[in-house]
Amino acid sequence: MVEDLERYVHIPTKTGYVTGLETFRGLVCERLASAGATVELVPGQLAPDWLYGSPAQGEVPPSAVCRRTSGRDGVRVLLSGHLDTVHPPESAFRSFDFGPGDERATGPGCVDMKGGLVIALHALEALEEIGVAPAWSFIFNSDEETGSYHSEEALRAEAGKHDIGLVFEPAMPGGELVVERMGSGQFMLEARGRSAHVGRDFFNGGVSAVTALAERLVALGRMPDAAAGRIVNIGPIEGGSATNVVPDLARAWGNVRFPTPQEADVLARMIDALATDPGAMPSVTVRRSFNRPAKPLTPATERLAREAQRAAEDLGQRLPFGKTGGVCDGNILHDAGLTTIDTLGARGGGLHTTQEWIEIASLVERAQLTAVLISRLAADGR
Ligand SMILES: [Zn+2]
Repeated sequence: MVEDLERYVHIPTKTGYVTGLETFRGLVCERLASAGATVELVPGQLAPDWLYGSPAQGEVPPSAVCRRTSGRDGVRVLLSGHLDTVHPPESAFRSFDFGPGDERATGPGCVDMKGGLVIALHALEALEEIGVAPAWSFIFNSDEETGSYHSEEALRAEAGKHDIGLVFEPAMPGGELVVERMGSGQFMLEARGRSAHVGRDFFNGGVSAVTALAERLVALGRMPDAAAGRIVNIGPIEGGSATNVVPDLARAWGNVRFPTPQEADVLARMIDALATDPGAMPSVTVRRSFNRPAKPLTPATERLAREAQRAAEDLGQRLPFGKTGGVCDGNILHDAGLTTIDTLGARGGGLHTTQEWIEIASLVERAQLTAVLISRLAADGR
């Protein structure tokens, strides 16, 4: 497992880095083909062009879906993982290194989530090897770190064809299985005014887009509500071109988090209300996409989590439950109606930083847990 992880970590797969993503996608698909799966590449969709740092639209990555069928009519399990990381290929953080000691290793994507992918691949291969051959599908996307806009349709389509979802995001710091996640959304406000020379025409036709935007930012700043669980973060912002010109364009981007669909609606209404009529001067346009709905704990999720917990305990492991404001593809799968648990990956930390690390022992532990869980789910029947 360590050899596999080292090989995968050495392939740079920042979102949008096509060369690395194609290589890595090819490797994992080849492995699952050897384990009896058929491989399908599903084309991706364009992301909204107003997103901050919008990914290059010319290179929309496909999702790969590997399917292993079985003769039996068992529970249909969907495994899901992302091939991309946040680490650019030119980063100094590019190798897989042990230390101190053999208990931990560092490397880009080692825990988020190449370690999780290694865990899932080995679990499936082990089941194959011992002749337990349940039906499963594995979907690999390449843009999770930028919101899964390209792969959302493929994720939703697969959710509809399966009964249980298992996502291999890193475990929480104490090894917890996340059973409850907030939802997340993106928005952008664009203010349009009228440009003018500050000295000559400030009172004579000049209309500041920056001032119009700033008034809305103050309103946005009042929206967070700890009791209701509503989070609104603003930034980056931009506006104006020189100090002696009344600015005619200003924009702000932001991110919201919410615990329930109801709170998402409250936020959506409040943010939408910041827009003006299109013909107004100044005018303000609101764009938003709340594409990762909240993942509250449901009875079905709780049953699945308890099943995973029992499998862990039978293996002499602990699997406490936790919750987080972070989001992942589990939010999308859950929203599409699939009962999903999503932190079956490795233990570690420093996610999205150059200190990212993995606890080596968690590779084998989590692979055992995954294999036992899948074999039990498959044995349950539908
Ligand atoms: Zn991740």
